[in-house]
Amino acid sequence: MARTGFYPGSFDPVTYGHLDIIARAARIVDKLILGVGVHHGKQALIDADTRIRLLEEVTKPIAEHTGLKIAFATFDGLAVDAARHHHAGLIVRGLRDASDFDYEVQMGQMNGAMAPDIETVFLAASPATRMIASSLVKQIARMGGDVSLFIPREAQAAVAAALKKPPH
Ligand code: ADP
Repeated sequence: MARTGFYPGSFDPVTYGHLDIIARAARIVDKLILGVGVHHGKQALIDADTRIRLLEEVTKPIAEHTGLKIAFATFDGLAVDAARHHHAGLIVRGLRDASDFDYEVQMGQMNGAMAPDIETVFLAASPATRMIASSLVKQIARMGGDVSLFIPREAQAAVAAALKKPPH
């Protein structure tokens, strides 16, 4: 039976770290839903439609290369509810460092208590991309730094455009 995973995140913006996790998730799932969180009170730099469009563009080569089916959705509630809505049996998360580990494992366990039928799978970040964080990318871009090492070209353009507009 085909395995479906749900990878929730802000993807504000999508980074090479996220793409690494998506490409490696192809080894565990046949289909991956990228869930763009649009939670009230959490202000994003890039609007949700643009974040989805960017994800569609930059994940195309991964889908072609690996055969992974990738779908896209926004969600504004619990990740477990969104995962269930999309018939995903796995939630995929990335672990960069000890603080990710503490937070992600705790959240995975609370999600597991709420939804024992959904398993959270953690992928350790790859060495080349483990330092990348969307929040730092935004800070660097705000200060006029070059973020081309951290995010794809399409995302650089979206960040630059969003920085010129009032926040969402
Ligand atoms: P959130 O707002 O939930 O932190 P992010 O989009 O920043 O959303 O991250 C979503 C997921 O991707 C999290 O599991 C996070 O640990 C993981 N992630 C983010 N950046 C990286 C990276 N550079 N390498 C591996 N995983 C990452």
